[in-house]
Amino acid sequence: MTTNANLTADRPTFVTHLECSLTGERYEADVVHGLSKAGRPLLVRYDLDVVKAQVSRDDIAARPTDLWRWRELLPVRATADIVSLGEIETPLVPLTKSGGANVLVKDEGRLPTGSFKARGLVMAVAMAKALGITKIAMPTNGNAGAALAAYATRCGIETIVFCPEDTPEINVREIALQGARVWRVNGLIDDCGAIVGEGAKQGRWFDFSTLKEPYRIEGKKTMGLELAAQLGWRLPKAIFYPTGGGTGLIGMWKAFAELEALGWIGAERPKMFAVQAAGCAPIVKAFEDGVEHADRWENAHTVAAGIRVPRAVGDFLILRAVRESKGIALAVEDDAILRAVDDAAKQDGLLLCPEGGATLAAYRDALAAGLVAAEDEVVLFNCATGLKYPMPEAPNWLDRTQPIDFDRL
Ligand SMILES: *Cc1c(COP(=O)(O)O)cnc(C)c1O
Repeated sequence: MTTNANLTADRPTFVTHLECSLTGERYEADVVHGLSKAGRPLLVRYDLDVVKAQVSRDDIAARPTDLWRWRELLPVRATADIVSLGEIETPLVPLTKSGGANVLVKDEGRLPTGSFKARGLVMAVAMAKALGITKIAMPTNGNAGAALAAYATRCGIETIVFCPEDTPEINVREIALQGARVWRVNGLIDDCGAIVGEGAKQGRWFDFSTLKEPYRIEGKKTMGLELAAQLGWRLPKAIFYPTGGGTGLIGMWKAFAELEALGWIGAERPKMFAVQAAGCAPIVKAFEDGVEHADRWENAHTVAAGIRVPRAVGDFLILRAVRESKGIALAVEDDAILRAVDDAAKQDGLLLCPEGGATLAAYRDALAAGLVAAEDEVVLFNCATGLKYPMPEAPNWLDRTQPIDFDRL
């Protein structure tokens, strides 16, 4: 058996400090942090000049391709704090028939726990372990809770998870089975977040809500790092990202800036398309209104539970990245989402989750509106395995004791 050197080799780390994403105020590294004093996400900063002097992109390219190859751009200091379930580099799968000749799907469903929440949570849990946190609570629409439960259990951290009551049964059960105490709550994800916040205020646990601890962004950032490496140190023309809390979009935007500072990519950026469901589109509304912060979306509903997020604490970071990239935020209807899932499965043999379907539906709209051209290389994010979601019935049944009409089969 070969061991993966990424998980065993000690590597130098380069975190210098953390920084408030709104005010730029500095915070010390290597101590427990939640949000900044301004109530906004903290961003991890690295001494990129020293990284540049000590590590080349060829060094990175020579390593095994998993997430931990990016160690010098990640916050975990001690190799012993790495907690891993096998975070592979996810493939770029062409979606030529239902998408087009230049459409690639980054299939995040291949990650541990079946979603890209593994990227964020593997990093956040490793940092919690490093900082001595022993009890964590989180509100979730499903996938984040599953990833938290899995990684926390693996390193002996206790977890309490709160889900909206209509969270898919499979998500609630996988969370429970992987060792968390999980509660259904009669409300939406931000109502669950209020319970987590109250318990944290009482000192009962650490609050792991999206962007309320600094390290999930760093884990999600690896999507952007990987994409650059996979495309030969360049980026696609456009990225379609299903946006809930926006961690991944914010993380990728940060990754591109860091890669440019290292001289590993140039100044070109993809147009970032923040995709939301028409039944829950606070970022789209704020984008269209030309404002920096989004109002809570009332009566949020969509088949794409992962992006049913009425309020995002990093709203301004999502909006900034979209605007700087000359992309847009756009909403798609549930029936277009389901049609996209159906088309990708039936025409290309790739089972998308509904959120992934939303990116295909949005790509189709963007193409029709001339926001992207058919010859532009675009990357859609399929954030979870389609196997976790309800599928249309397949009711055919055959009685083998009766004569079989083979022409009908
Ligand atoms: C969490 C989630 C999203 C949204 O990701 P953010 O980075 O929080 O915006 C999209 N799709 C799925 C399947 C998810 O689990």
